[in-house]
Amino acid sequence: MAAESVKVVVRCRPVNDREKAMSCKTVVRIETSRCQCFIQKPGASEEPPKQFTFDGTYFTDQTTEQIYNEIAYPLVEGVTEGYNGTIFAYGQTGSGKSFTMQGMADPLSQRGIIPRAFEHIFETIQCAEDTKFLVRASYLEIYNEEIRDLLGKDTKQKLELKEHPERGVYVRDLSMHTVHSVVECERIMEQGWRNRAVGYTLMNKDSSRSHSIFTIHLEICNTDSAGEDHLRAGKLNLVDLAGSERQTKTGATGERLREATKINLSLSALGNVISALVDGRSKHIPYRDSKLTRLLQDSLGGNTRTLMVACLSPADNNYEESLSTLRYANRAK
Ligand code: ADP
Repeated sequence: MAAESVKVVVRCRPVNDREKAMSCKTVVRIETSRCQCFIQKPGASEEPPKQFTFDGTYFTDQTTEQIYNEIAYPLVEGVTEGYNGTIFAYGQTGSGKSFTMQGMADPLSQRGIIPRAFEHIFETIQCAEDTKFLVRASYLEIYNEEIRDLLGKDTKQKLELKEHPERGVYVRDLSMHTVHSVVECERIMEQGWRNRAVGYTLMNKDSSRSHSIFTIHLEICNTDSAGEDHLRAGKLNLVDLAGSERQTKTGATGERLREATKINLSLSALGNVISALVDGRSKHIPYRDSKLTRLLQDSLGGNTRTLMVACLSPADNNYEESLSTLRYANRAK
C-alpha cells in the first residue's frame, strides 16, 4: 500500500494555567515549514534536542481549520467518493485530543475535525447531481476489550465481533441510524457520548478509559446516462482513543490497572498495525491482536486513508509522556 495513505501530524497545545502556576518550562519546539518537532530533555541542556519529522506539525497558534484543510479534507472527500477512512487523535489525557476532534464553537477556526467532517459530507451530498446518498451512523465503545453499542436499546449488553466471508469483520446487532443532516448527526453523537463509560484517574477525573468509534456509513448510488444505477459504499471512522498515559504515573492499582493494561494493549496493537502498513514490506499485518484493530481492519491499509493526530503538552513535567507520544507517532511514519 502507498505510504501516503497514512498521514501523521503532531499538534502541541499551549501551556495551561496549571502548568503556568507550576512554572513549567516549554520543552517542545515546532518548525512548521519543515514539519519538524524538537523535544528537549529537562535539565539536560548539554544534550541536543530529539528531532522528529511528520506529515505536518502544528503549534499553539495554529487552528483546527488549518489541520482540516491541509490534512483531513482529502480523506473525508475520499469517503464521499466511496473509500474508507479513519481519523484518530492519540496522546495523554489533557493533551488536546477532544479539543482537536470535537473542538469548540467559538472561535470558529477551532471547531473540531468531527463537526467539520459532518458539514463536509452533507455539503457534498447537497451539491451532488445524479447521485443519491444514504447516510447511516453507528457508535460503539471498546472498554476492557468488550464492545458495547452506545446507541443501542441496551448500552450494557456486550456485543460480539463476527467475521463474514464477504462482509468482513462486523459487530453483530450493532444499531445503525439513518441521518439526514449535520444537526441529526451531532444529536446522535451527543446521545452516544452521554452513554460512555467514564472513570477516574489521578490525572483527570473525567478521563475516559474507553476507546470509541463513531462511524458514518455512506451508500452512494450514481445513475449513468443509460439510466443504470451504480452502487458504492464508503465509511468514515472517527476514533476517540483512551489516554495513552502509563498506569505508573496515574497511580492505578487493581481493577484500574487491569483496565489500563487492556487500554495499552489496544493502543500498542494499533501502533503495530500502522507501522506494519507504513513499512510496506510486512506480509503479516497484526490486525487480530485487539478488538480495536480488528474492527478497523477494513479502514486501515489497502485502499483506505488514515490520519493520526498526535497531541502533546509543551510542558517539561510531561516530557516522558510527550516523548513516548512522539515515538509512537514516529513509528507510524
Ligand atoms: P484530552 O481530550 O486529550 O484529554 P482536551 O482536548 O480535553 O484533552 O484538552 C485539555 C485542555 O486543553 C482543554 O481545556 C482544552 O480546551 C485545552 N486545549 C487543548 N488543545 C488546545 C489548543 N490547541 N489550543 C487551546 N487550548 C487547547
